[in-house]
Amino acid sequence: MSTPDCLFCRIVAGEIPATVVRETPTTLAFRDIGPKAPVHVLVIPKEHYADVATLAQDDPGLAGEVLAAAAAVAEDEGLLGDGFRLMFNTGAYGGQEVFHVHAHLLGGAPLGPMLARNLA
Ligand code: 5GP
Ligand code: ZN
Repeated sequence: MSTPDCLFCRIVAGEIPATVVRETPTTLAFRDIGPKAPVHVLVIPKEHYADVATLAQDDPGLAGEVLAAAAAVAEDEGLLGDGFRLMFNTGAYGGQEVFHVHAHLLGGAPLGPMLARNLA
């Protein structure tokens, strides 16, 4: 179901432009507007789910399609050899800002430690 005030639903609907790098019947991958690495692509299901937990619980098959799309983009972008990071920010502690589930695909350079600070 499309959510009209959701930024990424509006990108899926073509109402907001995006640099699309891969599209399947159920997923869309497009470049992040504020890239944090030489390659920074967002991979989303076209259908609206707020976060990865909701998506995985309600439609695990679609969650798998998002992962498969991310892997295909990683291959297209030449990231399989040197590696990459795939990340779902979730909720307040995860720093999620857009509440339409999206995988961040990051690569093209060494990405450093997983977290800026060690919280343990
Ligand atoms: P979050 O913090 O929710 O995990 O990530 C949201 C991401 O969406 C951020 O990396 C941000 O740069 C990206 N973003 C926000 N608005 C837009 C937009 O209009 N177009 C694109 N392509 N990316 C966006
Ligand atoms: Zn949405």
